[in-house]
Order: sequence, then structure tokens, then C-alpha cells
Amino acid sequence: MVRDLFGLTLAELQEFCLAEGFPKFTAKQLCDWMYCKRVTDFDLMTNLSLKIRGRLKEIATVGRYDATDVQVSVDGTKKYLFSIFNLQSSINNYIESVYIPADDRATLCVSCQVGCRMGCRFCVTGQQGFHGNLSASQILNQIFSIPESTTLTNIVFMGMGEPLDNYDAILQTLEVLTSDWGLAWSPHRITVSTVGVTPMLQRLLDETQVHVAVSLHNPFPDERGEMMPMEKAYPVAKTIDLLRQYDWSGQRRISFEYTMFRGINDDRRHAAALVQLLKGLNCRVNLIRFHSSPDTPYRSSDGGTMTQFRDYLSSHGITCTIRASRGEDIMAACGLLAGKTAQKDV
Ligand code: SF4
Repeated sequence: MVRDLFGLTLAELQEFCLAEGFPKFTAKQLCDWMYCKRVTDFDLMTNLSLKIRGRLKEIATVGRYDATDVQVSVDGTKKYLFSIFNLQSSINNYIESVYIPADDRATLCVSCQVGCRMGCRFCVTGQQGFHGNLSASQILNQIFSIPESTTLTNIVFMGMGEPLDNYDAILQTLEVLTSDWGLAWSPHRITVSTVGVTPMLQRLLDETQVHVAVSLHNPFPDERGEMMPMEKAYPVAKTIDLLRQYDWSGQRRISFEYTMFRGINDDRRHAAALVQLLKGLNCRVNLIRFHSSPDTPYRSSDGGTMTQFRDYLSSHGITCTIRASRGEDIMAACGLLAGKTAQKDV
């Protein structure tokens, strides 16, 4: 069976090389070619011997592939569609990644699962159900294969799926992104979002230095449970208790995502409860305007309500911003990624 080397860590490549009888340092050379020089053709890896290149062509591949479609917003945001072959069901699934250019940064929002198990009621991805985890190779391919890849300044794990429900692949991806033998990115250019899968969040906090974004959306457990069924398994109060055990005074940041839904989570009662919940925690709250879609009954709060909500939080000592709306015309927002041709038969 042909082995896909793209996405493997240095340690995994060393194991592979030793098993093939290659010198151990071949693994470092492969990292350099795949991750630093972004080469996919073994013939172009000129510091490997002809014998090793020949053997690699027989037994391995660098499994990179382009997006099958791209939609471009009037504001420059791009939504890329990638085809993922599902071995179990023998059908093609589709996932989406969103490229968001801004004045001084270029961010890619990546997907980590096909569908999602979390079932958030306002989320199109969540309503599709769960169809599988992406491998580190499939997550990294989103980052490496878009035309803007070398210009990216930030990566956010906020696309389809719950990152901490696919923890091993996320950790492997982060290792490739941040190691000297990989892209050598600062972990502070990377944000992993979560609804608050507490045991895995603890591991992420202990094992990495990336920024964390918690999808909060409602400070009241019963109301949050209505919107986000995972509140019952992972209460947000427990998530915040866990976050309070870490030091947020340095470069590492914690933020809370709060999508504002008209008449559901946007009144003064919610703002006051949010202030209480986050009291004393050095954090930021991002208010997000919901991009309405025909598939959900949820509607966005209006601009005036969002401004009042922000001002209330700010006046009570919470750093709060209203996130600029991007890619609305191509449905590129959080909660709207659908992989719209998902499960099309091949
Ligand atoms: Fe999953 Fe995120 Fe959608 Fe919730 S909002 S269902 S965690 S993709």
C-alpha cells in the first residue's frame, strides 16, 4: 500500500525511513522538501540519492491536492471546497476552508471534520451530522494547497467540525505548523476554537501554546443547552473554571465567540450574566453578526443592539469587539459552512 508522507511528523518520518533502510537524516530532508520548500515530486528532492527517490516513488506519495471549487466574495474573502474520499462509505465528502484577507493579515479558517458531532442548532454543519474526522494530512492540505498559502499570517481552526473532537490530528497538525523542521510558525499565529470539550481543552492548554477561542453564545446554562446540546456534557461554567487555572497575562490569548441572535441571547440580562461569568478573567469577547440562512430560523441581532451589548461589556471592564462581517455573499461565516455538495456519489 502506498503511504502518504504529507502530514507526518519528523519522528514518524524517521520511523518510516529506518523501516525502509534509509539513513535517519532522510526524514529531516523529507520535512525540508515537503514543508519548507513545498515540493511534492520525489524526483525534485535532489539531495536524496537516486536509489532512495526510486524507492519512494514505489511506496509513497506526498498527498497534496487542489481545491475542487472556489467562490470569491465581493470583499475578497474566498471559500475553497475540497473533496475528501471517505474510505468507509466509498463516497466523496466535501469540506470548506475560508481565506480572509485584511489590511495587515491573511487568515485561513480550516475545517477539521466532515460534518460535526456537536449539533449546535444554529449551525448548518452541525445539522449535517458527523461523517468522519480529517487526518492531519487533510487539514494541512487546506493550508498548503491554496494559491495564497505562502502569504498566510494566521490560521484559525473555526471551520467545519469541533477541533477538540479530533484532538490527535489537530495536535499533529500543530506540530507540523510550529516545529523548526516544519513551518516554524509561532503558536501565537494560530487559534483553536472549541465549544468547550473540557478534557481535551486541558490537554491543548498543557501541550501547546496556541490561542484558544471558546464558542460561548449564551451565559445561561439552560438557554445555552437549547442552542448547543453539548452544554449538558461540557457546561461552559466548568470550561471557564478550567481556563481560570491558566495564566493569560502573557502573549497567549483566550477569547470568547458570541454570535448574536435576535431575541435569543442579545438583551441586557445576557450582557450582565456574561460580565459575571467572565469576571476577573483576562480575555476578549468577539461579538459576531449571524449570517442568516434559509436553513435556520435564527436571525441576527441588529447593529444597534450589538453596539449596546458591546458598550455594556466594555463599560464593565471586558475587552469586546464586534467582528467585521466577511464573505456574507458566499456564506463563508461560522456556522454556515456546509460542504454543500457533501456526500455526492462518485
Ligand atoms: Fe460543530 Fe462548530 Fe457547528 Fe457547533 S458551531 S455544530 S461545534 S461546527
